[in-house]
Amino acid sequence: MDYFPAFLDIRGRPCLIVGGGDIAFRKVRLLSKAGATLTIVAPDINDLLFNFAGEKGHRLVKRKFRSSDVLGNWLVVSATGKTAVEASVFKSAQDANIFCNGVDSVTNCSYITPAIVDRNPVIVAISSGGAAPVLARKLRSQIEMMLPNGISQLATLARNWRDRVGKRLSDALARRRFWEAVFEGPSAQLAMTDDIAAAEIVMSTLLEDSSVKQDGEAWLVGAGPGDPGLLTLCALQIMQTADVIIHDRLVSAEVLDLARRDADLISVGKFPGCNINSQEQINALLVSLVRSGKRVCRLKGGDPFIFGRGGEEVAALSKENLKYQVVPGITAAAGCAAAAGIPLTHRDVSQSVAFITAHGKDSVDNLDWASLARDKQTLVFYMSVKRLPELMNNLIKNGRSASTPVAFIERGTTPEQRIIHGTLGQLTLLAEAHRIVPPTTLIIGEVTAYGTAGAHDERYAPVKYIKPNYMVAQKG
Ligand code: SAH
Repeated sequence: MDYFPAFLDIRGRPCLIVGGGDIAFRKVRLLSKAGATLTIVAPDINDLLFNFAGEKGHRLVKRKFRSSDVLGNWLVVSATGKTAVEASVFKSAQDANIFCNGVDSVTNCSYITPAIVDRNPVIVAISSGGAAPVLARKLRSQIEMMLPNGISQLATLARNWRDRVGKRLSDALARRRFWEAVFEGPSAQLAMTDDIAAAEIVMSTLLEDSSVKQDGEAWLVGAGPGDPGLLTLCALQIMQTADVIIHDRLVSAEVLDLARRDADLISVGKFPGCNINSQEQINALLVSLVRSGKRVCRLKGGDPFIFGRGGEEVAALSKENLKYQVVPGITAAAGCAAAAGIPLTHRDVSQSVAFITAHGKDSVDNLDWASLARDKQTLVFYMSVKRLPELMNNLIKNGRSASTPVAFIERGTTPEQRIIHGTLGQLTLLAEAHRIVPPTTLIIGEVTAYGTAGAHDERYAPVKYIKPNYMVAQKG
């Protein structure tokens, strides 16, 4: 981050403007709107500026800038159009540890001003860090169109209710729930159409309801195989609103980056330093958080109901009569196959596809090898890396040809993705030679040959992904 964004309270604080032309006037008007007490220094001051300053009671000093002018000010703006003057204003401000903005050159700035959308008290500031001001202005006009005009009334109403809500709801979580219900519900619509009285009636009822302690809710959400572009919109929305996100190792850092900024992130599962690792502990954690009123996003790699033990978590919640919903995700088989250019079924060579775990509760030996070894079907093995000799031997012993093409997809849909092709007879050799490690998906069947057709690029190109608007609107 090149600049630290902040909103300054400059009401009643002395600020200096050097310059007396149109640009200086614009800066004066803006600073004046924010309540600053201004001194304007310039040998020539245009009429507009002169009259405005007189009207607002700002001090005018009709002479050239002197170094000592900066002293005692909180901010300095130089808008003279003369680079040499701006450089000297900047130097004086730097020497006095005062933030300075030189309108004509970024090199004379210790702060820059953003493009703004002003729906007071809501203010959206956009900056390209000086790199592309035109782009920042373009974004501003897009945001202008997106933000309803009534947002100003709504925020004002919220400001007027803050104390009352604070007194009625001592619990921070209950307060947040109340405000979310206000902003998502009819009171927001009423306030934005300026029917404040009606909005307040709805809010009063909500406030009473909010003071009764309620259970939270859980969402079992599929995070997909790694690429954030493969998240569903619903998954993203829940990640943006949950109080707590419980995730396991398979969920990629890029996906977690999209979580609401002040959500508690709890990692669970079998990895170093993690002490909540048994399924019973995870279930208990989930239940206790939902009981305490939290909205919990249980984020799981791929799809929560495919080898994700989602069924066990759902059972634990429903046993306690707690609310939950399941949001499907793109399972590793689908994500990896797509990333490797392998169609999981194909009319010519495969009529069915089976998702199989080589890591069942009991053992790999319970699988029906005779049926799995039949032709014209695709087998996708999850969690197979440590079971390759059994897979290879059982399939070949039961009649699947050793020359059947196979593909390993390691860390599919991530920048570290590796795709290794070979044949069933080479399974263990391939894994050793390429040092294949989990998470890896193994696809067995003629369809894998389509992934070697040449047109497919082995490096993973992330799915084109544009953050939806509500992510901008949501405050972390
Ligand atoms: N619920 C998950 C599967 C969890 S089991 C899903 O639907 O995808 C864990 C196994 O999933 C791993 O051992 C591996 O076989 C597979 N897997 C998950 N993510 C993967 C990825 N990015 N690349 C390859 N395989 C992956």
